Amino acid sequence: MTGQPRTAAADVVVLGGGMAGLVAAVRLAEAGLRVVTVAKGHGSLRLSPATIDILGYGPGRVDSPAQALPGFAEAHPGHPYAVVSPAAVAMSVQWLKEHVDTYSYVGDPSANMLLPTAIGVPRPSAVAPETMAGGDVRTAGPMAIAGLGVFKDFHPALAAENLQAATAAYGRPVQARPVLLDLPSAGQPDFGAVGLARRFEDAAFRSQVAAELRAAVHGEETIGMPAVLGMDQARSAWTELQQATGRPVFEIPTAVPPSVPGMRLASALHARLRRAGGRFVLGAEAVGPQLSNGTLTGVRISSAARVAPRMCRWVVLATGGLASGGIEVEVSGAASERALGLPVHGPGPGDAGFLPGYWDDHPMETAGLRVDSRLRPVGPGGEPVYPNVYAAGAVIGGARPWREKSGDGISLSTGYLAADAILEEAG
Ligand SMILES: Cc1cc2nc3c(=O)[nH]c(=O)nc-3n(C[C@H](O)[C@H](O)[C@H](O)COP(=O)(O)OP(=O)(O)OC[C@H]3O[C@@H](n4cnc5c(N)ncnc54)[C@H](O)[C@@H]3O)c2cc1C
Repeated sequence: MTGQPRTAAADVVVLGGGMAGLVAAVRLAEAGLRVVTVAKGHGSLRLSPATIDILGYGPGRVDSPAQALPGFAEAHPGHPYAVVSPAAVAMSVQWLKEHVDTYSYVGDPSANMLLPTAIGVPRPSAVAPETMAGGDVRTAGPMAIAGLGVFKDFHPALAAENLQAATAAYGRPVQARPVLLDLPSAGQPDFGAVGLARRFEDAAFRSQVAAELRAAVHGEETIGMPAVLGMDQARSAWTELQQATGRPVFEIPTAVPPSVPGMRLASALHARLRRAGGRFVLGAEAVGPQLSNGTLTGVRISSAARVAPRMCRWVVLATGGLASGGIEVEVSGAASERALGLPVHGPGPGDAGFLPGYWDDHPMETAGLRVDSRLRPVGPGGEPVYPNVYAAGAVIGGARPWREKSGDGISLSTGYLAADAILEEAG
C-alpha cells in the first residue's frame, strides 16, 4: 500500500503474549520460522497460579482429565476440547515440561492433584511446579501453613482453617495450623510478592526463614508457604529451605496479583523465544487484517500513534477472551472480536449477555470464535474465514474456564496445535 509505512515481513505474526501466544511463538521460532509476537499487554499468565489446569470440573470434580476428556468433548461439541484430542493435550504438557528450565513441572493429564489455594480451597490441577506439588491434599499429612509478617497478601489462619474444613468435607481431613514468622523487614513496612521473592534469593534471608521455621514447626508437618520462594532461582531457594528445615515445603499461589509462579513461567517462555530468535513487541495492538484481493497478507498494527501493516504468511490469533480484550462487549450488548474482526459465536445486539444470578450460566462466558478441526476461525457456515489464520487460547469460545478449571490446559494445547498446523503447511 503506497503512502503507508511497512514493517519487515515475518513468516508468522502471533497476536497475544499470554500462554497460548507464547507457546505457539516458541514452537514456531524453534522450528526456524521468522516469528513476530505482537501483544497489547502481558495477558493472564503473570496473574494466574501457573498450574496447568486441564479439566477440574465437568461439572462434577474430575479425578483424571485424560479419562474424562473424551466424554466431556462429546457432551460439549462447541468446546475447544472437541477439536483437541487427549493425546494432543498430553503432548503439549510434555512439550511445556521440556521448555521450562527454571524448575520442573510435575504431574500429567492422567490424574488431578488437589492443591491448596491461598484461601485454603483444594483446587484440581493436573500439572504444577515441583515447588507446589507437596501440597497435594490427596496424600499430604499434617501441615503448618506459614505466613510472613512482612507479607500482607497471605493469611495463614484463613488458609489453614478453610483447608481443614474443605478436606474434611472431601472425606480426607488434613490437619492444618497457621504459623506466623517474625522476620526482619529491612526497614520496609511490608513487601509485595515480587519484593519478597527477590529477598528469598538472598542466602542470609533464607537462613533466617529456615531458623524461624525450625522453631515453629512440629516433627511430622509439611510446610506450606506463599508462592514467593525466589524468582529466577526458585528451585534452589525451595530446595535449600527443605534441607535447612528437614521438612517438605510447598508453595501456595497467592491470590493478589502479580503471581510470582506466573512471572517465572512467563520469563521461562520469553527466554526460549529469545534464544530461538523470535521477536516480541509489547504495547502494540492489532486493529484489523491487511488484505490483498481478499487474501490476508498481514495484520494492521497500531503502535506509537501510527498504524502500519505487518506482513506475514500466517497469523496465530491468541488475543484472549473478555479478560484481555480479545473479545469485547459492544455498547449494543453484542460480543465482537477486536484484532481481525472475525465472527463471534455469542450474544448479538440486544441479546442478554449476562443473567441476573451471579452463578447463572451467562451466555457471554462462552462467547468467542468457533474453529474448524485445524483451529481456523470459521464463519456461520463453518468455512474458514481466512485459510492462513489459526486461533489459540481463550479467544476460542465454548468453554467456561473459570468453572471448569480448564483455562491454561486449553491455552497450552491450542497454542501447541496452532503451531503444529502451520508447521505442517510450511513443510
Ligand atoms: C487472575 C487469574 C487467575 C486465573 N486462574 C486460573 C486457574 O486457576 N486455572 C485455570 O485454568 N485458568 C486460570 N486463569 C485463566 C487462564 O489463565 C486463561 O484462560 C489463559 O491463561 C488464557 O491465556 P491466553 O493466552 O489465551 O490469553 P491471555 O493470557 O488473556 O493473553 C491474551 C494476550 O493477547 C493480548 N491482546 C489482546 N488483544 C490484542 C490485540 N488486539 N492486539 C495485540 N494483542 C492483544 C493481550 O494483551 C495478551 O497479551 C486465570 C486467569 C487470571 C487472570
